[in-house]
Amino acid sequence: MAANGNFYITTTIPYVNAEPHLGHALELVQADALARHRRLRGQPVRFLTGTDDHALKNVAAARAAGLAVREFVDANAARFRGLREPLGLSFDDFIQTSADARHRPGVERLWRQCAGRGDFYLRHYQGLYCPGCEQFYAPAELGGGVCAEHRVAPEPVTEENWFFRLSRYTGDLLRVLRSGRVRVEPATRRNEVLAFIRAGLTDFSVSRPAARAGGWGIPVPGDPSQFIYVWWDALANYITALGYGGDERPYRDWWVDSGERVHVIGKGVTRFHAVYWLGLLLSAGQPLPSAICVHEYLSAGGAKLSKSAGNVVSPYDLAGRFGTDAVRWWLLRDVARLGDTDFTAARLVTRANSDLANGVGNLQNRTLTLVHRHREGRIPRPAGVARLGTELVAACQALPQLIDDALAGFDFRAATGAIWSVVQAGNRLVETERPWELAGREEQGDAAAAARLDGLLGVLAEACRVLATELQPFIPAGASALGGQFRTHRGAIAAPVPVFARLVSPG
Ligand SMILES: [Zn+2]
Repeated sequence: MAANGNFYITTTIPYVNAEPHLGHALELVQADALARHRRLRGQPVRFLTGTDDHALKNVAAARAAGLAVREFVDANAARFRGLREPLGLSFDDFIQTSADARHRPGVERLWRQCAGRGDFYLRHYQGLYCPGCEQFYAPAELGGGVCAEHRVAPEPVTEENWFFRLSRYTGDLLRVLRSGRVRVEPATRRNEVLAFIRAGLTDFSVSRPAARAGGWGIPVPGDPSQFIYVWWDALANYITALGYGGDERPYRDWWVDSGERVHVIGKGVTRFHAVYWLGLLLSAGQPLPSAICVHEYLSAGGAKLSKSAGNVVSPYDLAGRFGTDAVRWWLLRDVARLGDTDFTAARLVTRANSDLANGVGNLQNRTLTLVHRHREGRIPRPAGVARLGTELVAACQALPQLIDDALAGFDFRAATGAIWSVVQAGNRLVETERPWELAGREEQGDAAAAARLDGLLGVLAEACRVLATELQPFIPAGASALGGQFRTHRGAIAAPVPVFARLVSPG
């Protein structure tokens, strides 16, 4: 069947046991940039995010806070949903798994489909469970006896659970990942997943006794003594939000018939997405995602972001202090594709000042000030100065394709780097052509200088326009303000206003 050209993109749904931190902002902003980029290119896009309410961690955190689980979960979910404005997010949908009427019927349908395939069996189970990960670990997976993610020793748990026959899908999983039918980016992550599968997949527990779930979650269809494992429940959100198990029209439009179904995730949950989630979908006979884009982690002051380390960076605070564009630009421009990146406010400020205020802002301000001062606000459209600024003209022409290619590989640094090379080429051209001197000579009656200034301003203004367009997915507010400077009244632009404030370095 021919795909419909739609683009569906999701983030993971975080636990709501605490306030959102900068790591959440990274994933949201990455997914948002991809969504905005496709919209800019005219593609129909649906961008989903939300919260994983059924995690047992939420129950524990609510108890610790002395609040009812419902109240606690709703309050924290609102803090995630509320990132929309400070981070400039454009999600089309937000699912809250415990409160959204769409979710439970879809989870149950997915369960029944896998059950219909004979993929569940009851098993008495003894294992090591990390409540932080909501996951059982084999002893061999625990370096020094502790979970690598949480640095704590998992608890021994003995219980009867429903198990999912993941092992049955080993061959299928290898095939879809090797063939690229499901793309995992970057390739390093794909290779890790392949190695994990080749080492042998074991069936995994997909339910827990109702008592241990504390009555929080979704009961197993046909067996109310068990609750569905939170990861199963959470992964299903990607399709329950599309009405899977209810009104399935959006599910058909955005999943079954969609050209691309993309999950943006953190490296810690690669296995859940690139193995378990694919296994569930294969069992249920549903289409697979087309790509899984894996990001790395942020640290602050060299340590992992965590409440216990006391270095949690609030995206609300950052956006309030430095502005949405500066935060987004740092996340998309400075964060490495492989390997963790250390955040400091000083780095964010340096990046924003060098690229935005001194880079894009300076180019725009110089260009439009000259147009305003020497051409009565009318942007020249010169002919016959073709050789002027060829490097800049070529860079502008190449830019959209470079961004498309970089983002197709989920390489945000390469995409923003391509923008930066246009900015540099523009500012270099100003330095070499010295338009203020051309303007001086024009005033002395030098016609050649006047023509050259026309050519130069035309080329520079066109570069600013291209930048205003191509920056939209990355810094939507600044891009829109830049684009607004080209609005004309009787053919003339208004005097330019600086778009990017110079930020003061902290400390
Ligand atoms: Zn853990």
